[in-house]
Amino acid sequence: MAETLNVKQSLKKLLDGNKRCAAGTQQNPRQDAKRRKEVTKGQKPFAVIVGCSDSRIPPELIFDQGLGDLFVVRLAGNIVDSLAMGSIEYAVEHLATKLVVVLGHGNCGAVTAAAKSADAPGHVGSIVKAIQPAIKKARKLKGDLVDNAIRANVSLVVNKIKSSKPIMIEMIEKGDVQVIGAYYNIETGEVELLEG
Ligand SMILES: [Zn+2]
Repeated sequence: MAETLNVKQSLKKLLDGNKRCAAGTQQNPRQDAKRRKEVTKGQKPFAVIVGCSDSRIPPELIFDQGLGDLFVVRLAGNIVDSLAMGSIEYAVEHLATKLVVVLGHGNCGAVTAAAKSADAPGHVGSIVKAIQPAIKKARKLKGDLVDNAIRANVSLVVNKIKSSKPIMIEMIEKGDVQVIGAYYNIETGEVELLEG
């Protein structure tokens, strides 16, 4: 089993892995049969990644991590509904994961669709609707609407998790958990941390 990492160590482990991936020097760690056997006894993921379903952004690959390392919650547009929130709560409460990273990314199709229309057929409508607050925020900003909305969406999701009652808000107040926003550059493969 992995050692327990604090937030700072967890973030470093993630960003170091991302640097390797962006540079093309992946180690593909902890993906062998030995690790598979090791994690049959249980899991102790060091980070929760709240990411987009986009096939170009698989967290284990872009952060160069292995089996049992990341607890991943993925919905298009890296949004969080009550089922996703429950998954995050499970990781921080039962698996003692200290770091939650909300990961937006450049050229996000879900955010692009939400910028074009607040409506969409079928259940996609729920996704574009959930992203509307970010579009509204981004319309007030200068620069590229979609890219600003991607960043605003990360920030809104970070705040949603931080203020979620009763579990997340309490764990964050106690200092047990940190929620951080990040942005994946689809061209360079680099992840940057976002403020607030
Ligand atoms: Zn996306």
